[in-house]
Amino acid sequence: MKSVKLTFLSIALIAAMSACNSSKKMSAPATAEPTKPEETEFWEPVPAIVKPGMTPSDAPSDAIVLFDGKGSGEWEQADGKDFAWTIADGAMTVKPKTGDVHTKRSFGDCQLHIEWRTPAEVSGTSQGRGNSGIFLQERYELQVLDNYDNRTYSNGQASSIYKQSVPLVNACKGPGDWQTYDVVYKAPVFDASGNRTSPGYITVFHNGVLTQNHTEIKGTTEYIGWPKNIAHGEAPIKLQDHGNLVSYRNIWIRRL
Ligand code: MG
Repeated sequence: MKSVKLTFLSIALIAAMSACNSSKKMSAPATAEPTKPEETEFWEPVPAIVKPGMTPSDAPSDAIVLFDGKGSGEWEQADGKDFAWTIADGAMTVKPKTGDVHTKRSFGDCQLHIEWRTPAEVSGTSQGRGNSGIFLQERYELQVLDNYDNRTYSNGQASSIYKQSVPLVNACKGPGDWQTYDVVYKAPVFDASGNRTSPGYITVFHNGVLTQNHTEIKGTTEYIGWPKNIAHGEAPIKLQDHGNLVSYRNIWIRRL
C-alpha cells in the first residue's frame, strides 16, 4: 500500500513539474531532487520593465491614469450623460443628485490606486457621514465612509466589501484628510453557460494598512438582499454618489 501511495505521489509530482516546465519554461527537468543550483533556476519569461513612480502613490510607467486632477476625460456619468461632478483644486467631488460616475473604459483583473477624502465639516452619523464607494466592475463595492470615530455596521464601514466582508482593522484618517486605497482585484470568471466558475478576490491596503487579504467576493454588494452572480465581462470602475461631498484624486490603474 505504501509503495502504491509513493508511486502515485511520484507520478503526481512529475506531472506537476512537467506542467510547470511547459508553462514556465523551466531550464531543466526536475524529476529528481536537484543537486546543482542552476537546476532550479529559470530565465524565461523575462519580466517587463516598469518605471516606478517617485513614491508608491505615483503612477508607474505602465499605468492608465484615470484622473490626474486636471480633467474628466476618462469619466462620464454612469447613465452615459456628460460628467457632472465638480472638478477643482486637483480633485473631483461628488455633486449630489447627479448620480454615480464611471470610467469610459472597462476593466477586469487590475491593480488600482485611488485617493479619497470625506468632508472636513462633519455632518451625519453612521452611513450618512462621508459615504461614497468604489465599485469594481460596477458591481462590487469597496466602501468609502468617514469611520473616524463614527460607528456603523462593521460590514459597511470604510474598507469593507459592502455587506460582505469586515475590514481587518479600521485604518481611517480623520475627516478632511486624504486617504489611499491600493487594491489588487481578481475578477470572477464565468463559463459559456453563465455559471460562475471562480469567484472574484480582492486585496486592499487602506493608507498602507492591509484591510482585505485576498477576500473572496460573494457576488454583487446589495443594499438589500443576498449577493447575486450574473455573468459579465470587463466593466467600468464606478464611484458612488451617496449624497455626501466626497472627493477623489490621483486615480490610476494597471491591467493584470
Ligand atoms: Mg457607499
